[in-house]
Amino acid sequence: MRRFQQLIDGQFEDGAASFESIDPATGEAWALMPRAQAADVERAVGAAHRALSDKAWRGLTATQRGKLLYRLADLVAEHAQDLALLETTDTGKIIRETSAQIAYVAEYYRYFAGLADKLQGAHLPIDKPDMEVWLRREPIGVVAAVVPWNSQLFLSAVKLGPALAAGCTVVLKASEDGPAPLLEFARLVQQAGFPAGVVNVITGFGPDCGQVLTSHPLVSRIAFTGGPGTARHVMRNAAENLAHVTLELGGKSPVVVFEDADLDSTANAVVAGIFAATGQSCVAGSRLIVQRSARDRLLGILKAKAEAIVIGAPQDRATEMGPLATQRQLSHIEEVVKASLASGAKLVTGGSAPSGSGFYYRPTILDCSGTEAAAVSTELFGPVLAVLDFETEAEAVRLANATPYGLASGVFTSNLSRAHRMTRDIRAGVVWINTYRAVSPMAPFGGFGLSGSGREGGLESILDYTRTKTVWLRTSDDPIPDPFVMR
Ligand code: NAD
Repeated sequence: MRRFQQLIDGQFEDGAASFESIDPATGEAWALMPRAQAADVERAVGAAHRALSDKAWRGLTATQRGKLLYRLADLVAEHAQDLALLETTDTGKIIRETSAQIAYVAEYYRYFAGLADKLQGAHLPIDKPDMEVWLRREPIGVVAAVVPWNSQLFLSAVKLGPALAAGCTVVLKASEDGPAPLLEFARLVQQAGFPAGVVNVITGFGPDCGQVLTSHPLVSRIAFTGGPGTARHVMRNAAENLAHVTLELGGKSPVVVFEDADLDSTANAVVAGIFAATGQSCVAGSRLIVQRSARDRLLGILKAKAEAIVIGAPQDRATEMGPLATQRQLSHIEEVVKASLASGAKLVTGGSAPSGSGFYYRPTILDCSGTEAAAVSTELFGPVLAVLDFETEAEAVRLANATPYGLASGVFTSNLSRAHRMTRDIRAGVVWINTYRAVSPMAPFGGFGLSGSGREGGLESILDYTRTKTVWLRTSDDPIPDPFVMR
C-alpha cells in the first residue's frame, strides 16, 4: 500500500496515527494516510505562528512572495497529471475532470501571485492640519484552511493563494476522504522554496483534527469549505477566539429553463450541472425548474443524454461518470431517492446502482412536480436531478428561491429583459445566464444563507487575509498642548 506523509514545520512525517484510504472504484484500501491528532495540530499551528514573524518569511518583499507563488503555480502545472491521477484514485473523480481542473488550479496561483505586490495601504485625508494618517495593510496572521473531499486542490488554491500573497502562514487540513492529492501538493510547496512553517499540510478527522485546529487560539482566520452542519461547529469554535471566518458551504442550486431557450443546448448545460463530478459539486444544478410547455421535450432530451453517459473506471479517459467518493455518500443518495419515490416522485431514469463493485450510482432524474420529495430540498451531493415545473416567471422565481441555500443558479432564456429580471430576483451568490459551472480566478464565488458567507476568488478576496493598522503621526514641532483641551 502506498504511504503518504504530512508536512509540519518543513518536515515530512508519517504522523503518530494513520488510517487507510479507500479507492472508491473498487471499495479497497489503497494507501495509508497520516491521521493528525491534537499534538500534530499543535505543532503545525505553532510552526505557522513562528513562521509569521520569522525573517525568512516576514523579511520577504511582496514581490518575492509573489515569485514563490509563481514558482508554485509552475510546479502545479508541471505535475498536474500526477496530481490528477492521485485525486482520481483517491476520490473517484474521473481523470478527464481532474486533469482539466488541476491544470486550471495553476492559474489561480498565478492570479494571486500577481496580486501580492498590488496590495496597498492608504493615506487618509484627515480633518486635522498637523496630523498625517495612513493605513498599513498587514497579513491577518495564521490561517486555518479546511477543505472537503471534492476538488481539494482547487478549493485550497482559493485559500492558500490569497493567504500567502498577503503574507499569512497557513495550516491546511485536507479532508479525511481522498487527501492524497493535497499531501502530494505539499511536496511542491516545499520544492517551490517556501520557508519552513509557512505552509503546513495535515490530514485527519473532524473531532481530533479539524475541531482542534479551528479552536486554536493562535489561529486568526478560518477559511472553511464543507457542509453547513460542520460550519456551525467551526463558527462556534471561532467565536471562542473571535477569529475571522469565511464559509463556503453546500447548495441546492436551481436551473431555471424558459420555453424560449434553445433546449438542445440547454440540455448539455443541465447535464454538466448535475452529472459532472458525479454530482459531487457544491454548485451542482440539482433542481431543474422548467416551464411547463417545454417540460416534456427537455425531459426527453435529458433522459436520452443521461442514459448515454459512459459509467466506468475513473482512470479511463473514455469514462464520463465515475463512482461516488464514499460508501457513506452512496447510502445517503440511495436513501433519499427511495424516500422521494415513496412520497410521489416519478422516476424518469436511473434510481439504482449498476452491478459490480465500487460506489457507483446511475445518473438519475426524478420528476418531483407537485410533491414534497426530499430530493427537492436535501443536498444530495450526487447524480440526482429533481425536476419541478412552472407556468409563470413569478412562479419560477418563487420555486428557485424556495431553499435556505443560495450558492449558484442558472437561467436559460433568449429573452434579454427576462434574463436581467432573473439576475435581480434570484437569491444566490452566482447567477449563470445561458451557461453553467463557469469559474475563474477573477470572479468572486460564494453563497447566501445556508450556503455560507464570504467570497473566494477575485480582487477583494485577498483583503480578507489582511488587517489594517491605522497610523497617526503628529507633524507639528510645537509642544503637545494641554491634555484637557479637546482637539
Ligand atoms: P464536511 O463538512 O463533512 O467536512 C469538511 C471538512 O471539515 C473536512 O476536512 C472535515 O474533516 C472537517 N471537519 C469535520 N468536522 C469538523 C469540526 N468539528 N471542526 C472543523 N473541521 C471539521 O463536508 P464534506 O461532507 O467533506 O463535503 C461536502 C460538503 O462540502 C457539501 O455540503 C458541499 O456542498 C460542500 N462544498 C462546498 C463548496 C463551496 O465552495 N461552497 C465546495 C465544495 C464542497
